[in-house]
Amino acid sequence: PASSAPVLYVDGFGKRFGGVQAVSDVSLRLDRGRILGVIGPNGSGKTTLINLITGLEKADAGKLYVSDADITGEPPHRRALAGIARSFQTAALPSDSTVLEAVTAARIAIDSDIATARSHAMHFIVQAGIADLVHTRCGALPPGPRRAVELARALARQPLAMLLDEPAAGLTEDEQASLARRLRAAADDGIAIMIVEHNMPFLLPLADRILCLDEGRAIAEGTPGSIRRDPAVIAAYLG
Ligand code: ADP
Repeated sequence: PASSAPVLYVDGFGKRFGGVQAVSDVSLRLDRGRILGVIGPNGSGKTTLINLITGLEKADAGKLYVSDADITGEPPHRRALAGIARSFQTAALPSDSTVLEAVTAARIAIDSDIATARSHAMHFIVQAGIADLVHTRCGALPPGPRRAVELARALARQPLAMLLDEPAAGLTEDEQASLARRLRAAADDGIAIMIVEHNMPFLLPLADRILCLDEGRAIAEGTPGSIRRDPAVIAAYLG
C-alpha cells in the first residue's frame, strides 16, 4: 500500500561538477514491488543520480534512506549490504569466469561456504533461464544471455532495491520482452526497482511510475500514461 514506508528514499539530492549542476534537488521513492522508470535527455543527470544512490559519487546535498535508516554517509559497500544492488554496468562481468563462478561470487558475501553459495547460485541461474550456460565463460556470451547473467548476479544478492542503467540496450525485441517479464517477476517478488532507460516501448509498459529529469531537475513524475501526455516532458524529451 502507498502508506507503507518506501524501501529507498532520496530526499533532495544535489551534485555539482565544476560549473555544471548535474543533479538539482531531486527526490524520489522506490517502493516494494514497484518499478520506477527514470527518463530524460542526455546530460539530464540520470547516471549521476544512480551514482549518488550507490555511493559511487558523493552528494553535495540531500539524504538517502533505506528502510527508514539514514545511509547518506555510508560508502558503496555498506550501501550494498543495506540492500542496494546495481546492474548493467559496463564490464561488470568477469570475462574469464564461468556463469556459475560469476553468480557464485555474488553469493559469497551471503553464504557461509562455497558449496552453499554454489547451490544458491544455481537457483538464480535456473530462474534466469540460463541453466544451459552454467559452464560458459562470461566473455563468450552474446548480449541477451549476458544481460540475463548480470540480472541473475544482482538478484542473487537478494537486494531490497535494484538500480538498472539502460537494461534493454543492445537486446533484440524477443530478449527485451523476456527481460521485461523477469524484471516484473523480480518486482512481484518484492524488490523495489529503478530503471534508467531511453527505450520508451520497453519502459512505458513496464514501469509503474516515471520520473523525468531535465538539466538535473525533476520536471515531472507520474504514471506512464500521464507522463506521455505531459507538455513539459514532451517539450524536453519525448517531442
Ligand atoms: P545522463 O545520464 O542523463 O546522460 P549524466 O548524469 O551523465 O547525465 O550527466 C549530467 C551532467 O553532469 C552532464 O552535463 C555531464 O556532462 C556532467 N557530468 C557527469 N559526470 C561528470 C563528471 N564526473 N565530471 C564532470 N561532469 C560530469
